[in-house]
Amino acid sequence: MLNGLAPIDCDLHPAVPGVEALLPYMEDHWRETVVQRGVHELDSISYPNNAPLTARPDWRPETGKAGADLAQVQDQALAPFGTQLAICNCLYGVQLLFSEDMAAAYARALNDWIAAEWLDKDPRLRASIVVPPQSAELAVEEIERCAADRRFVQVLLLVMGETMLGRRHHWPIYEAAQRHGLPVGIHAGSGYRHPVTPVGWPSYYTEDYAMQAVAFQSQLASLIAEGVFAKFPDLKVVLLESGFTWLPPFLWRLRKYWRGLTMEVPWVDRSPAEIVRDSVRFSLQPFDAPDDPDTVLQVLEHMGSDDLLLFSTDYPHWQFDGDRVLPDGLPEDLVRKILVETPLETYPRLRETLS
Ligand code: ZN
Repeated sequence: MLNGLAPIDCDLHPAVPGVEALLPYMEDHWRETVVQRGVHELDSISYPNNAPLTARPDWRPETGKAGADLAQVQDQALAPFGTQLAICNCLYGVQLLFSEDMAAAYARALNDWIAAEWLDKDPRLRASIVVPPQSAELAVEEIERCAADRRFVQVLLLVMGETMLGRRHHWPIYEAAQRHGLPVGIHAGSGYRHPVTPVGWPSYYTEDYAMQAVAFQSQLASLIAEGVFAKFPDLKVVLLESGFTWLPPFLWRLRKYWRGLTMEVPWVDRSPAEIVRDSVRFSLQPFDAPDDPDTVLQVLEHMGSDDLLLFSTDYPHWQFDGDRVLPDGLPEDLVRKILVETPLETYPRLRETLS
């Protein structure tokens, strides 16, 4: 238990042990294609196995990938915090593929694999629907296919794809997500269609990881300015691994230019901060603030809301040591919101199982 509460972990990363694990879940044509063409692992680009951030040292198994073994995830990620529910966000590089059809085939296999190998085996687990963002049409097909299984509670996208997420060709994904009561989770990561910085390719993961926050800011501006939240007022967007202390200065700038240029985006009829307060949530890890509770409270005060943050471990990625997943000294009410209430408010499907 954390502070006497059983938390809801909104960002947990089970790993596909190897592409062979997905083969039984692929249609014949795609299984043969993967085997004959020798398609290699897709998840080694963003999270190379030996990179320190890919797994905390004490969460690394002796062999294989961290996060690939259910018993280990139960022991290391669920039991220590007394987690009551956890949302599995499987990052397997489906978004990297150039073939839309192959990406859709991998997404189908991945979603069927997570349902059979994880959700069926532990009633605490839920999952996000991995979709091929290369094609909104195929992404919607996958949402429709998986949505009947109420253990899928979110649609998962990466923060860096081919085009900005506010653009209209992505809207069918938001329409389907809203219709099924599924928030859209946007996780750190890239399909590597563009440099991960606005000024060119960096050389090191250090730069790549640090620059993700800029991508999140760009996507938030795109979703707001293009009118996604005006068109889909019930849609919730969750930024996963985005950090959140950059919000007040970023929204200050966005509001300033929105006020000056409001005639070009008349559908943005509320200030960006108000839209974020109503429709956007943020996972807790990596916690991008100093270790004192005052800074967190100050950010939330600037934002005018303490309903923005969702508990997450980001297991097995290395974001904190030991059990120190929450900063010390936060008021009890806020802790309860972060650990339980805001996750339940954000993900309507989680409430169904907690009668
Ligand atoms: Zn994560």
